[in-house]
Amino acid sequence: MATQIDVLAALQELDQGLSRKEQLLQDLRQHVTAIGSEMAKTEQEAEAQSQKLQELEAQHRESEGRLKLEEDKIKEKRVRLNRIRNEREMLAAQREIELMREEKGKLEEGTLLLLEQMEQENEGLSQSRTRLNELQVQHRQEVERTDSQITGLEAESRRQREERTGLIGALDPTLQSRYERIFAKCGGLAVVQIQQGACQGCHMRLPPQLCNQIQSSQLQQSEKIYYCPHCTRIIYWPQAAGEEHQA
Ligand SMILES: [Zn+2]
Repeated sequence: MATQIDVLAALQELDQGLSRKEQLLQDLRQHVTAIGSEMAKTEQEAEAQSQKLQELEAQHRESEGRLKLEEDKIKEKRVRLNRIRNEREMLAAQREIELMREEKGKLEEGTLLLLEQMEQENEGLSQSRTRLNELQVQHRQEVERTDSQITGLEAESRRQREERTGLIGALDPTLQSRYERIFAKCGGLAVVQIQQGACQGCHMRLPPQLCNQIQSSQLQQSEKIYYCPHCTRIIYWPQAAGEEHQA
């Protein structure tokens, strides 16, 4: 027949396991959220690169258009040049063509530069897209793995909470609420053993008389509960608790 202290020790073990799982679940859920934001960031980067590339393409089209216009102008001028008979007019026209050629040269340079920028941007974009694809595969696997871990932990927690309900049924309600208060207040450690005359919760020495009292009380299977005079935790003599709870 399990005494109240056995039930308490078993309850604490369950509660400690449950809070560890709760912490783990929280970490895993945060991990999934972090994966999502990293993906979103990479997608934004690729989107920005794609936009930049589109702008450059538009600039390039415009530049090519201007170049074409300049070439047409030069052609036109050359045709007219053939009809000029006056030497002064001829020189002026030639000078004009010269200036147009200079302008055309500048435009060609500009167009070429844009083409180079486009190539660079295109390369960056294709790298981003490759990275994004890799990340998507990695992240899908990671999310699946984490999800299955979460599902497993949740199922285990549910099972342990049912087990907990069973234990609570065997516990005095006043003692239960006292235990829960101490558990919450004392960092998830409410039921502790006495070892070498000291409380294993606060490690303070206990009066030898109290230790003897607890020991004999437990040997007689008494249900009396003792508390550490220093930290108020529930203390017990290890031999008296169920064997599975011995340190
Ligand atoms: Zn103590």
